[in-house]
Amino acid sequence: MNKIKVARKAHYFCVIATKKILKGEIILKLQGNASSFPDKYSIQTGEKEHLFPFSENPQDESSAFRFINHSCSPNSYFDVPNKSLIALKDIDINEEVFFHYCSTEYEMASPFQCLCGTADCLIEIKGFRYLSAEKKKELSNQLAPHLKKLEHRK
Ligand SMILES: [Zn+2]
Repeated sequence: MNKIKVARKAHYFCVIATKKILKGEIILKLQGNASSFPDKYSIQTGEKEHLFPFSENPQDESSAFRFINHSCSPNSYFDVPNKSLIALKDIDINEEVFFHYCSTEYEMASPFQCLCGTADCLIEIKGFRYLSAEKKKELSNQLAPHLKKLEHRK
């Protein structure tokens, strides 16, 4: 995998494309150590499973997912069963890669105010369970299967 790299913006890290990526392409394979509890940088991969990067080193590609920022109108999503980050649209070289945190996280360990500035911005990002029925439906093309299971359990 060499389609992305971790880069530094003013005060934070981000992930950018190092080449043009076409819609539907695998951008990154997701790997890490599983835990029962989330933190700010983990990604939810099951009803009670959260993945942590092997290392904190931004140069280490297996840790890259930890640095992908949220957007309410993202250009990628995690295909959790196949442990892959997939392009939702064409992504240009040097363009930042985003995913929608509410497409994997049921209840976020660290909710935050979104500044993505897109027309669809939800402002408060707290996790899938807090979305309106309409927003939940809008995310259906990028939703991790465990969210549907957790939703039915409510
Ligand atoms: Zn937003």
